[in-house]
Amino acid sequence: TIPKTYTKDIMPKPTILTINCGSSSLKFALYEAGTLSLLAEGIADGLGGERAYLQSSMSADKQHQAKLSHSGALDTFLAQLSEHYELDSTLAGVGHRVVHGGEQFKASTLINEQVLSQIEECIPLAPLHNPANLNGIKLLSARFPSLPQVAVFDTAFHQTMPPTAYVYALPYTMYKDLGVRRYGFHGSSHRCITLEAATLLKKPVNKVNLISAHLGNGASVAAIKDGESVDTSMGMTPLEGLVMGTRSGDIDPGLYDYLLQNGYQTDDIYTLLNKESGLLGVSGLSNDMRTLIAAAEQGNAQAALAIDIFCKRLAKYIGSMLTSLEHIDALVFTGGIGENATLVRSKTVAHLKLLGFELDAELNTALPRGTAGQIHATRSHPIMVIPTDEEKMIALDTQTLI
Ligand code: ADP
Repeated sequence: TIPKTYTKDIMPKPTILTINCGSSSLKFALYEAGTLSLLAEGIADGLGGERAYLQSSMSADKQHQAKLSHSGALDTFLAQLSEHYELDSTLAGVGHRVVHGGEQFKASTLINEQVLSQIEECIPLAPLHNPANLNGIKLLSARFPSLPQVAVFDTAFHQTMPPTAYVYALPYTMYKDLGVRRYGFHGSSHRCITLEAATLLKKPVNKVNLISAHLGNGASVAAIKDGESVDTSMGMTPLEGLVMGTRSGDIDPGLYDYLLQNGYQTDDIYTLLNKESGLLGVSGLSNDMRTLIAAAEQGNAQAALAIDIFCKRLAKYIGSMLTSLEHIDALVFTGGIGENATLVRSKTVAHLKLLGFELDAELNTALPRGTAGQIHATRSHPIMVIPTDEEKMIALDTQTLI
């Protein structure tokens, strides 16, 4: 055993903290710099409400607390962290997830006063998310005033899209004057998939051509050409595109007018489309794919319909994304659903036979959880599962920038 005095003399390795501060939640992860191995992680939810809960890798139990603020949750996590890691001497920088970077941010950036005001300028584009993200930056800057802080934007990776992909067929002044355009989200995940795919395919990143399907509670597909995003299914907001846990994805915009005529207020329509639709709305049961698959197996017809609509829409979007590519190295499934739901993968790919995609049923079901691998039949375009890690991308960018 090493005497205690020795361990104190050993220089502890630098660490990087990532923060994802939402309107009612706060997620953190602590990484060792260099290797980017995960040291600790945690989440607090229900913040600012009647009852919050905290869970972290450093305490076995879920803790419940009444009326906890974001600041209170952060203090709890920092206290837990300092019991195990000498944050004051090891922490080298903090990376923040920021949802909307508008057209200002094409990559992650070190935060300074000017960057803070540019993130503020993007608030009208993401009125619920950006203020929460800014709050996280302010809380961490107050705790660690001399540490570099980095902003990593969900939108930045998609800033390479051409106007044919991002301009809506509206009067062009809507784009010029109001910033109405497709921005796309899940950028850290689609970028992570692009980097991982390059490694797995043994190709330089700028030679990688993919359709990346990120399927979590939110879901989006992206077309990646020569390592860059050239189209994606989410739009000006994360509501457009695929069927999601509680979001409708694409609907006829005429619905908006119809609902207004039928007594709905704009707030009601926001809630309907963002929180009550998607898998939850169609099934009337749950937003959770695992629950729906289990229910469908028990004969629940509406759960089965929700899954089928999800897969059909996804296949339709994968087909549309192919119009942006000249060839494809892989169709990649990722996110909680993409990585785990073999049924969703098989139902989706079944729609894509004419486009040259076919699964190998055995490879699809045999792939061990949490691993990357190929799941296509020999005659098919390559289809892969690659686990995504958005937090690690934030840590990587933070490390690179500091
Ligand atoms: P988030 O977008 O919140 O990060 P995740 O990427 O964790 O979400 O994905 C959550 C979704 O993944 C849920 O719908 C969940 O049911 C689904 N999921 C997770 N594991 C499985 C599984 N084994 N089979 C089917 N679906 C799963």
